[in-house]
Amino acid sequence: DPVSEAAAPDRSRDLLARVFGFAAFRPGQEEIVEAVIAGQDVLAIMPTGGGKSLCFQLPALARDGLTVVISPLIALMRDQVRGLQEAGVAAGALTSGNTPEENEEIFAAMEGGRLKLLYIAPERLASSGTTAMLRRSDCRLIAVDEAHCVSQWGHDFRPDYLRIGELRQALGVPLAAFTATADRATQDEIVQRLFAGGQPETFLRGFDRPNIRLAFAAKDSPRKQIMAFAAARKGQSGIVYCATRARTETLARALEEAGHNARAYHGGMEDWERRKVESLFQTEEGLIVCATVAFGMGVDKPDVRWVAHSDLPKSIEAYYQEIGRAGRDGLPADTLTLYGPDDIRLRRAQIDESNAPPERREADHARLNTLLGLAEATACRRRMLLAYFGEVSEPCGNCDLCERPAKTFDATEAVRKALSAMLRTGESFGTGHLVDILTGTLTDKVKQWRHDDLPTFGVGRELSKHAWQAVFRQMMGRDLVRPDAERHGALRMTEAARPVLKGEQALTFRADTVERIATRTEPRA
Ligand code: ADP
Ligand code: ZN
Repeated sequence: DPVSEAAAPDRSRDLLARVFGFAAFRPGQEEIVEAVIAGQDVLAIMPTGGGKSLCFQLPALARDGLTVVISPLIALMRDQVRGLQEAGVAAGALTSGNTPEENEEIFAAMEGGRLKLLYIAPERLASSGTTAMLRRSDCRLIAVDEAHCVSQWGHDFRPDYLRIGELRQALGVPLAAFTATADRATQDEIVQRLFAGGQPETFLRGFDRPNIRLAFAAKDSPRKQIMAFAAARKGQSGIVYCATRARTETLARALEEAGHNARAYHGGMEDWERRKVESLFQTEEGLIVCATVAFGMGVDKPDVRWVAHSDLPKSIEAYYQEIGRAGRDGLPADTLTLYGPDDIRLRRAQIDESNAPPERREADHARLNTLLGLAEATACRRRMLLAYFGEVSEPCGNCDLCERPAKTFDATEAVRKALSAMLRTGESFGTGHLVDILTGTLTDKVKQWRHDDLPTFGVGRELSKHAWQAVFRQMMGRDLVRPDAERHGALRMTEAARPVLKGEQALTFRADTVERIATRTEPRA
């Protein structure tokens, strides 16, 4: 029924936040987690650093009974067990390095039905008691890390992995296998040997979606910019993500007036209305939906040709997910994300005003920073995006910066001036006032605080106010400074800024966004 369907992902998200302390799933994780919780056989191929361990650790907690994890690396096992224990999870590892007392404790926990995760090395499968022990301990799931070790032709062959198939038969429980090795032959061999040739649900997921073009632009006149982008793609299906309900409606109307077929979609609409827009989008050619984030979850349309953000998304994960709704058919798809200082303020305020615990808000700020870094990147955006998800790649040739390299400038001196203005005023002021100090603007506030007496007063006259705003924005994007919500957005220096201040690190910033915002030239969509 729909209620329990909705409840399952909620439970996973709750565990994700509560036990693991993560605010969002990485790309691909959630689907795998749900399949494993549901008791399906799963083969998941994820890039290194993509967060595989979570995909069996979380289901182990959501499911009844014990999960056995087979892993070839003792050091890694111990790390994971330590991490889980610190998070309050009953986990243990049976390794050759254990003391008798450690083993005793693990066996006792298993017998008492308290253990949720047991890590073992494959060698242990060779000892006859292991299967019986697992059966007695109510083992309900087998997770196999580094599953490619079962491949005889692969580089990491571990003969004992061949026994995993027997263990699965003997226990009669689902098996979830994980690897970062994606080639077809290895996949086939894993299926053959671990699943006895049966068909596991397979998740093959590098993070790269090379057919999706990436582009950002400084927000100048968002409506005009989006209209120009849509006009160049007339008749194609697209999604415009907006930060507010009101904007979805004004944009949809403007697009309609310009002769597009467009609809608004947001959480404030009746259920039936939203269903209708969803089904129109699936069935009609060339519909544009102007939506809040509510749109897209249930929509699986392969030929969405473009996605635009009229406002900055709330995190790098959200950005990836939202642009990922374009081009599922693998054909070229286009994206454009607009961002401006107001977006940054809005997103910061949303995080600060949320009721989330402080660590969570910290993490949300960090994820927003990463997205800002991507917005004002100086080289290939895809490379930076993929690096965030742990994938190493070459410049892509399919992003705005690969096509037209950014103009950059050495911002070291400007940043040091900005930091100096902050420090000399006790890190108690926001961007506006700091810019006034740097540009030598004699406002009432400057006079009231006698900041015109500071040696920093007027040392930044070579840049316009807009340019300084852009410098501060890029400093925020790189997490050199952070606005303090409890003190009206007063900027504070972070540890990351220390080497710059000490003259140990140089900084390269984008010059074109500084100039563009400074001179308000025509937007290029
Ligand atoms: P893999 O085994 O795929 O190489 P790991 O499971 O070790 O990757 O995860 C890599 C890193 O990503 C770890 O530091 C982990 O804590 C982190 N991580 C995993 N899932 C998430 C998530 N949803 N949000 C943030 N960080 C995550
Ligand atoms: Zn690129």
